[in-house]
Amino acid sequence: KKPVIAIDGPSGSGKSTVSKTLATALESAYLDTGSMYRAATYAVIQAGVDTSDADQVVKTATGADLKFGTKPEDPFTVVGGEDASAAIRSEEVTAAVSAVASQPAVRENLIKMQRGIIAKAKSGIVVEGRDIAEVVAPDADLKVYLTADPAERARRRAAETDGDESSTQASIDKRDKADSKTTRPLEAPEGSHVIDSTELPIVEVVAKILALLNN
Ligand code: C5P
Repeated sequence: KKPVIAIDGPSGSGKSTVSKTLATALESAYLDTGSMYRAATYAVIQAGVDTSDADQVVKTATGADLKFGTKPEDPFTVVGGEDASAAIRSEEVTAAVSAVASQPAVRENLIKMQRGIIAKAKSGIVVEGRDIAEVVAPDADLKVYLTADPAERARRRAAETDGDESSTQASIDKRDKADSKTTRPLEAPEGSHVIDSTELPIVEVVAKILALLNN
């Protein structure tokens, strides 16, 4: 049986690059659950809904037509028939995503979708997120929790988004704090292998995970 691999961790931990590289190496599918919460948030913003209006947020987010690519080389996101792969990375979406992701009905809906995608992945799948090992796929064959020092996470995120480090640090801190109420991104769940990527190049993190998988 091809493995289901859970990769959890906070933003800037290197989880996306590591997960995609790993999925490519294993010739398996790849699912970025963060992009699913971002897609739901994008739908809410597009509909002109105020993110503090819980009823409307839930209604819009759960009713949205969302599609996700699971090839590691092209993990596209489609919202309402429109390619939103770039739009879901905007600052506006990033600032609003924690509020949308904190709605239990939104999570329930997306988790159901995630489990459906995992069940259909015949060639195995690498699933990245924050609650994968504990909630989405507790039966995963391998569970990894990636961390990195806050300053290093901010440096990586700033480089990705062309932002400056101190405002990126502030926005990461804010999101970590909001997310920790719903998904505990700052703690490694039991049964997870913790890998600190602060001083490890991506290829070495991937090599460690492959070694864990093979022993
Ligand atoms: O990983 P990324 O930074 O793209 O995730 C965006 C947001 O989606 C997180 O800040 C969090 O609010 C939410 N999220 C979540 N559960 C997951 C993945 C992401 O709540 N499994």
